[in-house]
Amino acid sequence: MDKNVRICIVGGGPAGLSAGMYLEKKGYENYTILERLDRVGGKCWSPTYNGRRYEMGAIMGVPSYYAVHDVEEFCGITHDGPKLNRNYKNAEGKVIEPFEPKKNILKIPRLLKMKKQIKKLGEILETKYKGYDVNGHRGVAEGRYDGFSQASAKREPIKGENPNLKDLALPFSEFCKLNGVELTQDVWIGPYTSFGYGYFDEIPAGYVLKYLDFQTTMNFVKVNLWTWKNGTQYIWEQLNDHLLHPARLNSKIEKVERKDGKVFVTVNGKVEEYDKIIVTAPLYIPNKRADGQVGMVEYFDAREDEKELFSKIDYERYDVLAVETKPEDHPEISYYVFDNMTKERLGHLMVYYRRWKDTKDQVITTYALRKHKDTKEIPYDECKKMVLDDLKTMKNPASNVVNEWSVYYFPHVFSKDYAAGWYDKVEAMQDKYDTFYAGEIMSFGDMDETAEYSRELVERFF
Ligand SMILES: Cc1cc2nc3c(=O)[nH]c(=O)nc-3n(C[C@H](O)[C@H](O)[C@H](O)COP(=O)(O)OP(=O)(O)OC[C@H]3O[C@@H](n4cnc5c(N)ncnc54)[C@H](O)[C@@H]3O)c2cc1C
Repeated sequence: MDKNVRICIVGGGPAGLSAGMYLEKKGYENYTILERLDRVGGKCWSPTYNGRRYEMGAIMGVPSYYAVHDVEEFCGITHDGPKLNRNYKNAEGKVIEPFEPKKNILKIPRLLKMKKQIKKLGEILETKYKGYDVNGHRGVAEGRYDGFSQASAKREPIKGENPNLKDLALPFSEFCKLNGVELTQDVWIGPYTSFGYGYFDEIPAGYVLKYLDFQTTMNFVKVNLWTWKNGTQYIWEQLNDHLLHPARLNSKIEKVERKDGKVFVTVNGKVEEYDKIIVTAPLYIPNKRADGQVGMVEYFDAREDEKELFSKIDYERYDVLAVETKPEDHPEISYYVFDNMTKERLGHLMVYYRRWKDTKDQVITTYALRKHKDTKEIPYDECKKMVLDDLKTMKNPASNVVNEWSVYYFPHVFSKDYAAGWYDKVEAMQDKYDTFYAGEIMSFGDMDETAEYSRELVERFF
């Protein structure tokens, strides 16, 4: 593509900002990033409390976050945050050690079986499901892999046929059953469901395993994780500061019209002309949201194929509270509450995070999901009350809520559409209307997968 092509990027989160970085690295300097809010980072939001930043959104990374590492190198920063650690409680607030055989004598056979199945899953992912862990979902529904290997920072392009990959369209619980590895869910559920990515009986295995590939899951098990002292938002603020063209904040896009090979964007009342547009903001939001965010189909001159495909997208209702506690009620560490990670316990507290080891003068953040594909959404206030009650049960009651949000989280499609080739249809539309689709829906809802997708998009099309 002509290096002078005028590119508009919608969204100043990890996907949009890294698209800017990778374009720049490839010699495309004529780009503009439009961000609707007065800050960059999107779901990496790290406000300040008593002089230190805490996390309302993204918290951690793993050593295989190669794209995030590219950003760190570009900006001269590193993952210098507090070490993560956690314990476990049951729904009654009792501390438990679910994976410690000595503390669960009766469960020893199950734990041994689980260990065997984890090994088996590791093996079949490398053999039967070869190619499962490339970024994005191109070809999966047709039994192909086509992407960049995530096995090392080099990210070599790889491509091949593997009909078994079609199994990735199954809900993860069914995928596990098919392969006789049901008990692996006991381990995968911690960094999956409690992190807001839905339940294993509703989410296609493709999402679960591309995010929690074997290596990443083992990093979670060993707590070999990255955090950032100034919060994950700092990564993206730094990137924004290092770009030739930092994001234009408070950009209200009223209309996007694509005609005659040009893209006309009406932003804050003025029409701007571009040649290409990359959308990293939500493509479709099925309901009205309190934060006023809408999908691109609402403000673009959306074509029939865009409307039809994007209308299949759903997202998670994931709620975060930041609470103060009295010093005597402060938890000594972060806790997972596995009992609450089932759809029967929708709306309950699944995990709570204590960030700093050295002080009780900090907020604790809590996490809950309030929708399953087959259930009615639990209203926001009801869920908030349940979480605050749960904190009391955990013997860490909140004295005050200092921050809260219910974020548009982890857009995805369900098994039927995944199996019917939703991703290949959308990939085939890339550049069709001088428009590229990036951000979470195209890969997965974490910082690295979205930044990596932007890297590959630039690699493939620019
Ligand atoms: C509670 C929580 C915990 C998380 N934990 C982790 C974690 O530990 N590790 C991890 O890797 N990831 C985590 N994530 C996920 C991670 O933050 C996201 O996957 C990532 O931020 C996605 O990047 P994105 O750029 O695709 O989207 P976003 O971060 O959502 O950014 C999109 C941007 O587009 C802007 N926008 C929207 N509409 C418009 C419009 N019309 N015009 C202009 N701009 C618009 C938004 O304001 C936003 O800035 C977490 C997220 C949350 C909320």
